[in-house]
Amino acid sequence: MNRLVKNAIIALYSLILMALSTGFAFGQHKLPELPYKYNALEPYIDSTTMLIHHTGHHQAYVNNLNKALEQYPQYHSWSVDELLLKLNSLPEEIQTAVRNNGGGHYNHTLFWEIMGPAGSSTMSPALESAIIQYFGSIDRFKEEFEKAAVGRFGSGWVWLLKKENGTLYIESTPNQDNMLMPYYKLEGTPILALDVWEHAYYLKYQSKRGGYVKAFWNVVNWNKVAELGGY
Ligand code: MN
Repeated sequence: MNRLVKNAIIALYSLILMALSTGFAFGQHKLPELPYKYNALEPYIDSTTMLIHHTGHHQAYVNNLNKALEQYPQYHSWSVDELLLKLNSLPEEIQTAVRNNGGGHYNHTLFWEIMGPAGSSTMSPALESAIIQYFGSIDRFKEEFEKAAVGRFGSGWVWLLKKENGTLYIESTPNQDNMLMPYYKLEGTPILALDVWEHAYYLKYQSKRGGYVKAFWNVVNWNKVAELGGY
């Protein structure tokens, strides 16, 4: 066979293989890029933790979600939000995998977005006055949020949610669960999220979750929080 033709066939074959591996079977859900560098949250959240958290933990949730859905092409067009909202309608054998890994994917995607380099954002006056309206003061709000974070037994998340009528409230969920899932009756949209799994802080803070939670305030992207809340 002509060498040119042979090379063309090999190139085409590699392209198809690449498309198959990244396109269909494992391609429905993707790891989003971080909106900043791994060391951008130093010294409050260290770059090693960020690297492992993003490329290890979050990537694993994405991979396992795709794997769970592999045999169910009817769900390949569903967004992660839709999968979580309609968890009860999914085949029973994949509900737990989608709950844990779809939840993990959704939660971390939001978590990366509501953080940013220290000093890169300030609370907008509208957001500030809403927090004061519902919590009494910024300090009281932070105290209540920290209490929920430290009080969550085992692994989970803490949320600041905004109801349609404007009410702000704090809630916490276990594992990778969140407000979209039918097991919860948590009204509203999350505008702030904190991962309190040990993998989020153990390298730097070891067993001192409280230290991590206090440090978190330095790297909250208040511009994004305000945007999510429509302030
Ligand atoms: Mn995590």
